[in-house]
Amino acid sequence: MYSIEELEKYDYFKELLKINKIEYLLDSLTGLVQRQYIIDFIAELIKDKKEFTMAILDLDFFKQINDNYGHDVGDIVIKSVAESLKTYLGDLGIAGRYGGDEFIFLYFGSSDYANLHEFYNGLYHGSIVLRRIIKTSTVSPFITGTIGSASFPKDADNYTDLFKMSDKTLYRGKQKGRNCFIIYVKEKHQNLDVSNIRPIDLFELSITLKNIFDSKESLKTKIMQSSEFLIKNLRVTKMLFIDSKTDRIFDVTGDKLLGFLNKETDKKLLKILDKDQIFITGVNNDITRVAPSLGDITAKNSLKSLLMIRIDIFDTSYGAIMFAETREHRIWESQHKAILVSLARLIAETYYIEENKKG
Ligand code: GH3
Ligand code: MG
Repeated sequence: MYSIEELEKYDYFKELLKINKIEYLLDSLTGLVQRQYIIDFIAELIKDKKEFTMAILDLDFFKQINDNYGHDVGDIVIKSVAESLKTYLGDLGIAGRYGGDEFIFLYFGSSDYANLHEFYNGLYHGSIVLRRIIKTSTVSPFITGTIGSASFPKDADNYTDLFKMSDKTLYRGKQKGRNCFIIYVKEKHQNLDVSNIRPIDLFELSITLKNIFDSKESLKTKIMQSSEFLIKNLRVTKMLFIDSKTDRIFDVTGDKLLGFLNKETDKKLLKILDKDQIFITGVNNDITRVAPSLGDITAKNSLKSLLMIRIDIFDTSYGAIMFAETREHRIWESQHKAILVSLARLIAETYYIEENKKG
């Protein structure tokens, strides 16, 4: 909870506190600045031409926390994130609650990209604010969040545009797999139109894959066409394919042989796939631990987050197919998993049919 002393450092709040009690300015659940006052403060800073960076932080899949553990646990999580965010910002910024699981915070350090990058990194590493377990008396959910950010006057000279940019980059971060921050960069984001982005439509994706596999193309072409379609629609960086007959690991997206799986050294991974049919990780260490050969390849290609599904039918495995991302800790949604399971099954069926034709 912000104290009078902490707020009075800013002229805007000093004036307000002359006529208002502090409770009136703060959000009752979190003790952060109430939505209206943080917005007015931003407008004031813009009027006074003070340099700052604005960030919107939205917790990832927060609805699931409420649905799974109840609203009270949800409240504890919101409070805990608020408190840790306030502590992290310290004298360098100020935080407000925008509503629900959304926070707005301002940062007064340099709006230079490298500096912002380092500052936001601190929110994600070290389990201080995000990417951490929040212990309650009954459950201990793991919390992540996504941040969009833009700076005044570098990116925008008025509140409306500044807000739009932060919101747009936040949306982009959600779309890129959450659990990350996106800093507005004119060259990258000025033409980004988030108004016509549709949510993932599993039906459309499934039907398209089915049609690709019903065509007369070779299996290789089918896998390549599926990959092209999926990475575009799901905003994934790459798709890899492991062929268990030859142990080759392909970059399907770039149509390139990346190397080989070593059945001996990589057998932990094969065991996991046998048992669970799925392997997910967000750090390369985890890959290397269960499959050093694959770990080498992913490291060389800067791939850090993987979602891998075994390709099998009845008791025969033909390998694995995976989405791969260059950044750490991408969160894979159930839709990503579902569509990859369907694709793995379509590939397995094609293998199976071809084998039985021959034999
Ligand atoms: P996304 O990653 O896309 O942000 O998914 P999400 O589930 O977090 O979606 P969204 O941000 O839209 O959902 C926010 C949820 O926060 C919806 C609402 O049930 C819940 N919520 C809003 N205010 C409060 C509150 O004060 N306390 C609690 N416990 N939950 C709240
Ligand atoms: Mg949310």
